[in-house]
Amino acid sequence: MSRFTLAIHGGAGTILKEDMTPELELAYLAGLQQAMDAGFAVLEQGGSAINAIKATIVMLEDNMLFNAGRGSVFTKKGVQEMDAAIMDGKTLEAGAVTGVRNVRNPIELATEVMLNSNHVFLSGKGASDFAIKQGIKLEPDEYFFSQFRYDQWKAIRDSDTYSLDHTHQRLEELMRDKKFGTVGAVACDQQGNIAAATSTGGMTNKKYGRIGDSPMIGAGTYANNLTCGISCTGHGEMFIRAVAAHDVSCLMEYKGLSLQQAMEVVVHEKLIAIGGEGGMIGVDAEGNAALVFNSQGMYRGYKSSDGKEMVAIYK
Ligand code: ASP
Repeated sequence: MSRFTLAIHGGAGTILKEDMTPELELAYLAGLQQAMDAGFAVLEQGGSAINAIKATIVMLEDNMLFNAGRGSVFTKKGVQEMDAAIMDGKTLEAGAVTGVRNVRNPIELATEVMLNSNHVFLSGKGASDFAIKQGIKLEPDEYFFSQFRYDQWKAIRDSDTYSLDHTHQRLEELMRDKKFGTVGAVACDQQGNIAAATSTGGMTNKKYGRIGDSPMIGAGTYANNLTCGISCTGHGEMFIRAVAAHDVSCLMEYKGLSLQQAMEVVVHEKLIAIGGEGGMIGVDAEGNAALVFNSQGMYRGYKSSDGKEMVAIYK
C-alpha cells in the first residue's frame, strides 16, 4: 500500500482577510474540510482516486459558497451554465461537459460521459439530453440561485451595453475583487492511481457560449499515473493558452522536474508571462501534494495518509 493523498481547491483570486467576515471565513474553511474529509474517507476505505474526488466535488457543488453546481455565477444572459471535467490517470479516460444547465452535479454528468458515452466532451443541449437519458439528477433554476452571485452579476450585467471599455474595466475589477470560486480535487489512491476533476460556473457575466479551461482536458484538468493529477483555477483564457495542467505533466515526464517544481514553473513563470492569475493543485504517484498560486489567495487543502493535513485561504 502506498501513501494516499487528496488535495482540493475552491477557487483562487483576490481573497483578502480584510474583505472577509469571521463567520464567512469559518464557513469556507468548514466547507473545504467537510469535502476533503468525504473524499479522504473513500481513499481510507481502499476506494479509487476517481470515487474519492467525485465525493469531494459533489459536496463542493452542493455548497452555495462555491462557484460550481449550486451557487454558480450568472452569465451575461442571467442564467447559470456550468462546466466540469474528470480524468482517470490509470486509463487516461476522461469525460467533460460544458454549458450545462439544471444539472445538480455536473461532475456526475462528466463521469457518465467518461464511462458510458463513447465520447469525451459533450456540450449544451446534447449534454442535457444525455443527462436525462442517464438519469442524472436535475434541479429547477431556483435551486441554483444565490443572492450574492445575483447581486455580483447585476452590478456589471449592463456594462457592455453602454461602453465596451468600461465593461472591460468593470469585469477586470470584478475578477480582481470577487474571487473566482471554481472547485477541484485531485487524488492518489492506495494503489498509486491518480485522478483529477474540476467543476465551475465559469466567470460572472461571461458571454453566451463561453467555455473556460476547467472542462478542457489538458488545460484546467489532467491526470496521468506516470506523472500527476492537476486541477486549475483562475482566469481560464490564460490557462487554455498555456495548456497549463498538461504542461505540468510534460515538465515532469520530459524534463524530470518534481511535481512542486513543475507547478511552480507553470504558475509563477509561464502563466505570469501572459497575465494569467490563479493557481492549481496537484498530486503525484508517490502521494506528494502541491498547492501553488500566484493570486492573493486560493481556497485550498490537502490530506495525506502520513498524517499531514491543512486547509487555508490566504497566501
Ligand atoms: N477557470 C475558471 C474559468 O475560467 C474560473 C475559475 O477558476 O474560477 O471558467
